[in-house]
Amino acid sequence: MSSRLHGKNVLITGASSGIGEACARHFAQAGSNLLLAARRKDRLENLKQDLLKKHPHIQISTFELDVRVRDKVRATASTFGDVDVLVNNAGLVIGLEKLEDISEDAMDTMIDTNVKGLVHVTQAVLPGMRARNKGHIINIGSVAGQQSYGNGSIYCASKAAVASITKALLFETMDTDIRISEINPGMVETEFSVVRFKGDHGKADAVYQGIEPLTGHDIAEMVVFVAGRPAHVNVAEMLVFPTHQA
Ligand code: NDP
Repeated sequence: MSSRLHGKNVLITGASSGIGEACARHFAQAGSNLLLAARRKDRLENLKQDLLKKHPHIQISTFELDVRVRDKVRATASTFGDVDVLVNNAGLVIGLEKLEDISEDAMDTMIDTNVKGLVHVTQAVLPGMRARNKGHIINIGSVAGQQSYGNGSIYCASKAAVASITKALLFETMDTDIRISEINPGMVETEFSVVRFKGDHGKADAVYQGIEPLTGHDIAEMVVFVAGRPAHVNVAEMLVFPTHQA
């Protein structure tokens, strides 16, 4: 927990489950106000009610938002007010298959969400940060952006793109006090993982190979840590693995 985050306005995309939901819980604990975005508004509303019971003094707004739709992202962002911290977390993987078997639809969905969606939200929020000469953008990448693996070509490429975009943004904001960070998780057990294995827990166990995966909370703790550093400190990149993953 960091008092530096108290009263800050934190926008989290993909806050309806997994890492994003865990981030919402940890920023709420730190006293931040929350702007929670995802497509499943009912999930966000339930999360909001739960958090307000525990943290009645923070402000929470929820937004039904598909990050792939640029105009909707822009229109929604115009209602956000000042965003102090943006956690670009929304992302997915579908159809882990050999390159020659990947459908156009799966490819488009991953690129449109993981890459273009992150850009859409950043484009909508960064000008406000520039105008105030402050803010922090934290992109959730993946170890998959650094280590490609079989049957994961497009997902890995999408996360490699996140790494490239993050580095470019570092240069593009160098003349400002805006911070740009990337947190790259290894295996995290979330809804993502169950979807990844089509709900087949036996298959998931085979892939995990006895490795105890991280939880969303493990990553959220890192996100809050990174956001809570003093203004002159930027954790540009962080790789977070389960202990037995390499
Ligand atoms: P979850 O599936 O639990 O969460 C993904 C979140 O992204 C959901 O809240 C979902 O909300 C949101 N989302 C998906 N598509 C869209 C969209 N088009 N517009 C808005 N929101 C969207 O998975 P994780 O928590 O694991 O994933 C979070 C991030 O972490 C992703 O970027 C993922 O790539 C990354 N990551 C995950 C790892 C893992 O092993 N789990 C490892 C490394 C990185 P909704 O469906 O309501 O829109």
